[in-house]
Amino acid sequence: MSRLIVVSNRVAVPGPKDKASAGGLAVAIYAALKKYEGIWFGWSGKVVESVSTAIHTEHVDGVTIATTDLSHEDYDEYYNGFANSTLWPLFHYRIDHAAFDRRFDKRYYRVNARFAYGLAPLLEEDDLIWVHDFQLIACAEELRRMGIEQRIGFFLHIPFPAPQVLATLPNHQALVRALFAYDLIGFQTATDLVAFQDYVIYEAAGSIGEDGRLTAFGRTICAGVYPIGIDADEMAEMSWSAEAVRHFERMTRSMAGRKLILGVDRLDYTKGLPERVAAFERFLENNPGNRGQVTFLQIAPSSRGDVKDYIEIREELESAAGRINSRFADVDWVPIRYVNRSYPRRSLAGLYRASQVGLVTPLRDGMNLVAKEFVAAQDPEDPGVLILSQFAGAAEQLHSALIVNPYDIDNVVDALNKALHMPLEERTERWRGMMATVTRDNVSAWRDSFVGDLLKVPVGGV
Ligand code: UDP
Repeated sequence: MSRLIVVSNRVAVPGPKDKASAGGLAVAIYAALKKYEGIWFGWSGKVVESVSTAIHTEHVDGVTIATTDLSHEDYDEYYNGFANSTLWPLFHYRIDHAAFDRRFDKRYYRVNARFAYGLAPLLEEDDLIWVHDFQLIACAEELRRMGIEQRIGFFLHIPFPAPQVLATLPNHQALVRALFAYDLIGFQTATDLVAFQDYVIYEAAGSIGEDGRLTAFGRTICAGVYPIGIDADEMAEMSWSAEAVRHFERMTRSMAGRKLILGVDRLDYTKGLPERVAAFERFLENNPGNRGQVTFLQIAPSSRGDVKDYIEIREELESAAGRINSRFADVDWVPIRYVNRSYPRRSLAGLYRASQVGLVTPLRDGMNLVAKEFVAAQDPEDPGVLILSQFAGAAEQLHSALIVNPYDIDNVVDALNKALHMPLEERTERWRGMMATVTRDNVSAWRDSFVGDLLKVPVGGV
């Protein structure tokens, strides 16, 4: 049996006790690594004065954890720079937030090469290599340069942009050429796959074969759609855990019979938070009878708090929530509860279940796991309603959510009205359809279908 080698920017080994805080993805990948006696290779999370080529290794439960450090320049120019300030906004269609700086991409390719150099000596002949996400697109190209011929797969967790958006990136061809060093590329949605195919045909003078394989830059590779899932059974179980029940009761008590609309997002400009708050404001404006009856709780922990764009979105949201609260609040009711901290998923499970509406309206999102967690945590006897952006990857799977255009504030207001007044029968029917999907297409199914296909793809890019 081949070993599985997983390469990702961060290595998240789930602790023996707190499986719930590790996140479904880390748990699923770790389970596969245990099965295949594999290696998980990535950044140690440490930023040091000067990096050496040394790789730190440790062995946990038959899995080898191999990590490398980053220097301060790597952190600024590769991680905060090209990955988070160039590729992240661009791949989420936010050219207005993208920073283009030659130092960034130079450093990105250098760090990707360093990962490849660190990994290559650990590899064996029939290893299966699986590289994750936008931080490490150029990893396989470097491995190929070093003569590594094993099967290498890549999964993009974020959207793949339309060709004309990607074309705003200087040297965009170099990035796509690097993708052609893989044997299999996985995308979250059919939309992402089509965007990639369009790029290959219209920007790279490539072609699609009858078998769906793509040819460009002198190689032929496979590409497919593998929507990432959650551990739905675990989330459903977690929603009845002591901690979830505590949060459910605390929330229900504090709502005193009012209805709860819940949003849970990292504080990021891709999540559509100002638009969401504006929609709730218009909902209160248009529906005076609902004032005092409905509360919107937005949990939005800061991420990348040291980057300017993130400081700005935080300030924008704080001021909008403050303004709306001062406009509509009463002595015993505050319309928006905005909480700028993170909660363990076990607590979120209780909050999801305490909510009548899950409001998930990103402007663009690779998948959006919160949408799936919200579904999995509902009480089957009295499920809440999911309002979901058409631009979240999850919308291609969760057809019985109320699908909205997050830019169209009136559309979101209409969906809020519909959700808050939806009869139990319709709520249950919609929920059942979504629950069947998140249970069937769970994170283990996602992992197994990608790894299964990678095992089958022709080797050598021909
Ligand atoms: N999350 C969490 N605590 C919080 C907020 C979010 O554990 O306070 C988790 C959430 O349960 C989900 C993940 O963070 O598993 C967010 O994933 P998603 O795909 O929705 O968005 P991303 O942050 O990856 O863009």
